[in-house]
Amino acid sequence: MRQHRLRHFALTLTLTLALTLLAATACTSVQEPEETTDLRAGDSAVSDIDTADLVIAPDVEERLARFTPTDVEADLSALSDEDRRVLALLVEASRHLDPVFLRQVDAGNPAMERATRPWLGADASAEQRAAREYFELNYGPWDRLDEMEPFLGVGDLGALEHPESAGYYPEDVTAEEVEAWIEAHPEDEAAMTSTVTLIRRDGDALVAVPYSEAFAEHLEPAAAKLHEAAEATSNESLARFLAARADAFLSDDYYESDMAWMDLDAPVEVTIGPYETYEDGMFGYKAAFESFVTVDLPAESAALARYKDELPWLERNLPIPDEHKNFDRGTESPIRVVDEVYTAGDARAGVQTLAFNLPNDERVREAKGSKKVLLRNVMRAKYDKILTPIAERVLAAEELPELSFDAYFNFVLHHELSHGLGPGRITVNGEETEVRLELKELYSTLEEAKADVMGAYDILALIDKGEMPQELRATLPATYLAGLFRSVRFGLGEAHGRGVAAQFNYLLDKGALAVDDDGRFRVVNDTFPGAIRDLAHDILMLQAAGDYPGTEEFLDRWGRATPELTAAVARLEDVPVDIRPRYPSAPGVDPRPGVTAPGE
Ligand code: ZN
Repeated sequence: MRQHRLRHFALTLTLTLALTLLAATACTSVQEPEETTDLRAGDSAVSDIDTADLVIAPDVEERLARFTPTDVEADLSALSDEDRRVLALLVEASRHLDPVFLRQVDAGNPAMERATRPWLGADASAEQRAAREYFELNYGPWDRLDEMEPFLGVGDLGALEHPESAGYYPEDVTAEEVEAWIEAHPEDEAAMTSTVTLIRRDGDALVAVPYSEAFAEHLEPAAAKLHEAAEATSNESLARFLAARADAFLSDDYYESDMAWMDLDAPVEVTIGPYETYEDGMFGYKAAFESFVTVDLPAESAALARYKDELPWLERNLPIPDEHKNFDRGTESPIRVVDEVYTAGDARAGVQTLAFNLPNDERVREAKGSKKVLLRNVMRAKYDKILTPIAERVLAAEELPELSFDAYFNFVLHHELSHGLGPGRITVNGEETEVRLELKELYSTLEEAKADVMGAYDILALIDKGEMPQELRATLPATYLAGLFRSVRFGLGEAHGRGVAAQFNYLLDKGALAVDDDGRFRVVNDTFPGAIRDLAHDILMLQAAGDYPGTEEFLDRWGRATPELTAAVARLEDVPVDIRPRYPSAPGVDPRPGVTAPGE
């Protein structure tokens, strides 16, 4: 059980202001028990934070500069006028989700949004302007790149802590209190743990408020735009999804529209609704609204569908004994390659997504599998703006011509496909269990490392089989190596960084990588494939055995910040950490996230 942290910037405001804020988020019980409670998350009556009281982290401009503004352009040349009209309506619908997500992140966000609005004006200082833009980028005053550290707030920033309850639960509630309430009121359990409700106080009670009610002010106009788009398209699968999803915004029942999303077959591919639950740091129940408006790239999708057919062969080809291979996994999941036209909400916040796999509803997954969506133009943008400058700083000069976007794209694809290969359900001491349950908190670190290594291993195997082009044999290793550096800079001390460091140090030890006198790295082509195979074997066997102590030993031994690695990462300081997307292909939209509700 994680400890809920009470401290939060709103609690440092004056009592009067705090009361007003609490009232707006329905927490009226303690002070004014008999007052009518407005359970909606609407907040037009919330009083403001005084702009003059705001404190800005002194390094806010450097924080913002870690994200490089980038035009993410989509090829719309194949679209009909009808498709373009649908696209424009979907962008409009998406913009209503920005204010929803802003409120899901933190109930105090609307007041903060208003207080920082003057900083968009011409007489704002560079620091104020940066603070406002960083607020928009993070959808709140919490730095997503630095473990939700505050960069903006009232009072001593060092004393403020991001609430695990986000905007989903009453600010002063503890996980224990929520659990105790559910224990005492089992009839409320489904609603309280639902992915599409907020928890609020109503007098002494905890109540679940459906999203459709809490966010009606924004979801109703979004639904109207989706209906308009459904009527504008002649594509039946798209019309069915959009109409069903519009209804779900108002009914909170997303099942049918998730099913319809799996069947989408249209030039305009859209993912819009409440999906990921990471923002709920208290329980991981509540889903955040987001939107990916994209256009399908049919030729690329068809080319990749071929690799999906290779999954049974790739499972057989795993470098482990047959008894540990998993031939029961479904291979039905479709793959789509798309160009991103516009994003909103969770999808737009912080570090940008390269690929996703949805929906999360297990009932839909059982019936139809899940869909993998790869965002080609986002990959291209990151390849140009981040991977290439990284390679220029840490790879030996003669490796640079080997860098290739095609290799990077295929590597990301096969990383994703690899999550569906290898041990999943396993037997340990005669008991049926899962790798995830046995490896506990080390699981995701090892699983991500597995997907990286297997991604490279599978591409090399498919080249040998004649299914992938020969030139990848030269371009893949250098591109993979540059990719390791891209990931490791998210922090050598952190889970994912540790898994990346493990790959790096293992390959260095096996002679698959070498360091030049100037500290730059090169691939040793003769030994690289064998070392990748050995590393894949070692990781897969830890998973097959559900070997927790072995995994710990493996990560302790290899996942270290060695002097070579630390020195290399130090050379990357001036390379941006991520892109900050602008969407020139989306006609007539504000380039900044729409944290202000349309029309406001
Ligand atoms: Zn992964």
